[in-house]
This record gives sequence, C-alpha cells and structure tokens, in this order.
Amino acid sequence: MTDGNLAVIGLGSIGSMALWQASRLTGSVVGFEAQSPAHARSAVGGDTRLFRMIYRGNPDLYPILERSRDLWAELEAETGQNILTRCGGLSIGTADGPYLTALLETTRTNGADHEILSREEMAERYPQHNLREDDIAVYDPHAGALRTDRAVTAAVAAAQANGATVHTNTPIDSITETDDGVVITSGEKTWTFENVIVSSGGWSQRLMPGYLTAATQTKRIFLTWFVAKDGAEFTPDRFPIFIRISGDRSMYGAPAVDGVTVKATLDGRGTATPQADAVPRELTPAEITETIETVTEFFPGLFPNIVRSDAFPDLFTTDGHPLLGRISEDSRIYCATGFSGAGFKNATGFGEIAAHEALGKQTFTGLDFVRPQRFRTR
Ligand SMILES: Cc1cc2nc3c(=O)[nH]c(=O)nc-3n(C[C@H](O)[C@H](O)[C@H](O)COP(=O)(O)OP(=O)(O)OC[C@H]3O[C@@H](n4cnc5c(N)ncnc54)[C@H](O)[C@@H]3O)c2cc1C
Repeated sequence: MTDGNLAVIGLGSIGSMALWQASRLTGSVVGFEAQSPAHARSAVGGDTRLFRMIYRGNPDLYPILERSRDLWAELEAETGQNILTRCGGLSIGTADGPYLTALLETTRTNGADHEILSREEMAERYPQHNLREDDIAVYDPHAGALRTDRAVTAAVAAAQANGATVHTNTPIDSITETDDGVVITSGEKTWTFENVIVSSGGWSQRLMPGYLTAATQTKRIFLTWFVAKDGAEFTPDRFPIFIRISGDRSMYGAPAVDGVTVKATLDGRGTATPQADAVPRELTPAEITETIETVTEFFPGLFPNIVRSDAFPDLFTTDGHPLLGRISEDSRIYCATGFSGAGFKNATGFGEIAAHEALGKQTFTGLDFVRPQRFRTR
C-alpha cells in the first residue's frame, strides 16, 4: 500500500497546475509545499507575468502555448476567477533589426495571429511609447497579463475541490526510489507514492540527480514599477503588455492592473544566486541607473522614480529550455522545473503535460527538447 498515486512537490506556478490537472485524472494526488502556495518569495511573486503567443525562438513551444491559452480560460471558468487580463501585446523594436526579424520568422512559422504596426500607426494607437526613428511594432491580439497569485491559488483550490490533498509548510527533504514506490521525507515524516513530480522551482537542485544539478542554476530576476503622470493612459484597455528591444536598450512590462503602478522592467536577464531562499531584493546601483535611463527614454508619461521593486528566483537550464520528464527512462520521479525565466505563460500547459505523463498518459509529441535526458553525458 502506498500513500497515493502521485505526489507533487512544490505548489508554485507549475506544481499548482500539475496538481489541478492530476486531480482531474486521479482521486489520489497529494501536494507538498514548503511554505504556502503562491507565497511571495517564489517565482509567483510580483503580481503579473506576460502571456503572449508571438515570440522568437523554438516553434515546438507553440502547440503548448495554444493549449495553455485554452487551459487558462478553463481555469477561469472552473473557479470563477479573472486570471488573464486580455489586453493584447506589443513587440517593439528596430525595423529589420535582429529581434523583430527573428520574432516574425517564428510567428510566421507558427501561423500565429499578428498585426505589423508602422511607426506612425504605433504613435497614433499607443502614444505612451516614445519611439525611435526606426522603431516599428508587432501586435499580438491574444496576449495579456496573468495574475500570478490568483492563478496559483485558484488551481490549488480547484484541485482540492476535486479531492486532492495539500500539505503546506511541509518542505520535502529527500526522495528515494525503492521497490515499494518513491519514498519522500519531511523531517521525521515519511510517505510512499507510486509517482512523484518535482516542481520546486529555484529550490529544485536539492531534489534532483547530479546530472541535472550540473545543468541548472538558480537565478535572480528583478522587477520595477512606476507611477503614471496620467493613470488613464496606462490602463489595460489602452496599454497592452509590451517587450521592446530598440538598439542598445530593452524593457518589458504590463499595464496598471492595480490601477496605480505600471510594471516596466529591464529584460528578464537573470543573475546567478546561490540560494533561492535568500535572493537579494535590493537593486544594485547599476540596475537602478539603467532602469531609470530606459524609462526616461521610453515612457515620458511615467514619473522616472522606481516606486516599487523586488526580485524572485527561477531555475535556469544551460540551454534555456525546461526540464519536463522522468529523470531516467524507468524512473517514477518526474521533473517539472527549469523554466528559465519564461515558464509562467505556459504553466497550465506544462502542468498538464507533467500530470499526464507522470500518471503514464501521453499529451504532446515532439517534446525531446524538454527531456532531462538531453543533459546526460554518455
Ligand atoms: C521576476 C520574474 C519575471 C518573470 N516574467 C515572466 C513573464 O513575464 N512571463 C513568463 O511566462 N514567465 C516569466 N517568468 C518565469 C516564470 O515566472 C517562472 O519560470 C515560473 O514561475 C517558475 O515556476 P516554478 O513552479 O518552477 O517555481 P515557483 O513558482 O517558484 O514554485 C516552486 C515552489 O516549490 C516550493 N518548494 C521548493 N522546495 C520545496 C520542497 N523541498 N518541498 C516542498 N515545496 C518546495 C516553493 O516554496 C515554491 O512555492 C518570470 C520569472 C521571474 C522570477
């Protein structure tokens, strides 16, 4: 006898979604969270994450994005919560520059809906952006801002309503595979499960085999917020989420979903941080200077003072793709981590893949690029 079909270790962005999806498949799923779901020091912190269907990079991600978009709507319908503010999105950059060229190539390969806006069209529709002479934009009608804490809380509640059990303030210390199942411990307590998902975000290295520890690094990503001179200019109906790379400067952000502060942040570059529990929250003088210089140039309608800032951990892989799959072919331990600063938009899709595969069901094909085995040295 085991304590259940499946344990999900870490109920943050992806673990909460895996728990919700698993609860639709089995009445025997148990979630373990070191603190509480959506706690403020996890990668859920900072109110919002960008959701967008147009991007530059691997087209294999696109079917997962499509599925994630459907699942965000399902989560909203099932829980009655407003999670994705569908305000559209802008990718802004130098016309014919490397950023927009690569983005349009991926977008056309994927067949994603989009609209190219000339500099003049941008200036008329979105005057909040102070454009350079050679800037244009690509509009994504399906983009928006995800309310992170609401999403994670809703998914855990939906899972519990389906019969899932949740243990909060229960950090898992060890995971061991035995003939009877996978044994997990927290202090003096021990449980045995048929399958385990490790979805512990920036803390996952402690629970992963050496070959995955070597291929990953916990990094700190910071966020900054500003106050608008005219708040009405930056509401979700007037100001889509944006990513901008203009020459030597870059920034991304979201509208004032709280009615007051606009998120405008240097691009999601992470800096290595040894401990997910102790991510430095203060910005460095260099981070402050570059942020203020960029906001001053890009947004004359924002007061160029950082009114709020914070920083959070995420686990990065050396190739920037997630870790989704069993740690070895015949293992019952499944990794769902390593989302490398880009995982939230796909949290529903990644959570569904993890729950289904950990329970022996298939979802997508063509997932070799996320499999942990790619990091095995022969
Ligand atoms: C500042 C910032 C901005 C970002 N912006 C975007 C964006 O705009 N769009 C986008 O798509 N992505 C974005 N990302 C990336 C995205 O937020 C992350 O990839 C994603 O949230 C990671 O989710 P996770 O479930 O792996 O980790 P988390 O959400 O951090 O969850 C891990 C959970 O595991 C728990 N845990 C840890 N150890 C244990 C243990 N031993 N036992 C039990 N529980 C444990 C933790 O307490 C935590 O709750 C951003 C990330 C950051 C940090």
